[in-house]
Amino acid sequence: MRTVNLINVELAMPVDATQPYDDNNIFAKILRGEIPSTKIYEDEFAYAFPDINAQAPTHILVIPKGGYVSWDDFSDRASDTEIAGFVRAVGKIARDSGLVEPGYRLLANTGPDSHQEVPHLHVHIFAGRPLGPMLAR
Ligand code: AMP
Repeated sequence: MRTVNLINVELAMPVDATQPYDDNNIFAKILRGEIPSTKIYEDEFAYAFPDINAQAPTHILVIPKGGYVSWDDFSDRASDTEIAGFVRAVGKIARDSGLVEPGYRLLANTGPDSHQEVPHLHVHIFAGRPLGPMLAR
């Protein structure tokens, strides 16, 4: 991950989601087992683990097994089988975590305005408290 130090605050640089996939990113390393993570769920299409900097009592990241930069790249290049498998996995993880009844939020950042930090598609699952307005104003 590229970072910059600015007046004692470390900000991760947002990625350019139009660039080709580069498998040196941190989530590709997690998939290869080169960086540790705590597995919440895994199948042929998806891998899920807790976000290292949780923004809610439940904050899970779900990533596809294939190399896709963003939601844009995934929806463009992934096969129908991969897309169906990934979407079903996200739903199953939330369901199996007991999140349907209390409710949850999904988020997939794409590119600079969203402040996407890692150039491997990831869906955030947030839950565990009322999540407030959809966006900061
Ligand atoms: P985004 O801004 O949507 O690209 O989100 C990237 C997320 O990845 C952030 O919420 C980070 O806290 C999270 N993250 C970065 N490195 C790790 C890691 N090694 N394990 C778990 N989560 C991570």
